[in-house]
Amino acid sequence: MSRVALVTGGSRGIGRAIALRLAGDGMSVAVNYSSNQAAADEVVDLITSRGGKALAVRANVGRPEDVEAMFSSIKGELGPVEVLVNNAGITRDDLLLRMDLEAWDDVIETNLRSVYLCSKAALRAMVRARWGRVISISSVSGTSGNPGQTNYAASKAGMIGFTMSLAKEVASRSITANVVAPGFIETDLTADLDDSVKELVLPSIAMGRFGTSDEIASLVSYLASDDASYITGQTIAVDGGISI
Ligand code: NAP
Repeated sequence: MSRVALVTGGSRGIGRAIALRLAGDGMSVAVNYSSNQAAADEVVDLITSRGGKALAVRANVGRPEDVEAMFSSIKGELGPVEVLVNNAGITRDDLLLRMDLEAWDDVIETNLRSVYLCSKAALRAMVRARWGRVISISSVSGTSGNPGQTNYAASKAGMIGFTMSLAKEVASRSITANVVAPGFIETDLTADLDDSVKELVLPSIAMGRFGTSDEIASLVSYLASDDASYITGQTIAVDGGISI
């Protein structure tokens, strides 16, 4: 029987590539989104046209009632979530002196509160099944910091502490929890960056280029597989060498 995966923010960018990849691995995939239903439907159509099983689910992953409803509809349509990919994320960049509380709270809610809510919602069934994968998409910002991103870096570093603790709580049940830390990846999130910022960043990337969403998806695919059964609590950078 195929495993059931939930990819939060699976409708665009990195999440989209992860959803397509896990479906290609034979999993049934719940594609979560918050507002752009057409993008989520397109991912679902692509998966089903290739013979896979998928479901688009709207939910703001920072809101408990949305998360509860999302998990119950996935359970009804596909079965309990066995592979959770905490991918949904936003940026609200500003220097700390100018950052208002709303920009702080929005980012912490979407990027970190969501990890607490979704992981907790997924865990009960994983513990019962004595198998599970929780994979969270952090960022090089969370491991090295970045000016203008105190909120985002705090949320992404928070995921790392969360994951190490969770890994210790559930390892005895064959549930692993890991973090993937991308560098600069070509998506809508980075398309907004000024050319001047891109020119500044490129020389610090050993590979001399931005990465692709597929390059993140291949690590997620591995971490979700049985082959990665002894890897837990780790943060793995996929960043073309920007962190070395
Ligand atoms: P993206 O292209 O902007 O896509 C974001 C996805 O998250 C969309 O599917 C969006 O759905 C969804 N989303 C946003 N807020 C949500 C919410 N409250 N509830 C549910 N879904 C929500 O972003 P991306 O570049 O693929 O980034 C994906 C993840 O990788 C993020 O966590 C990001 O921080 C991380 N990351 C990205 C980079 C990079 O260079 N791109 C680097 C390091 C880490 P809607 O369209 O419906 O809102």
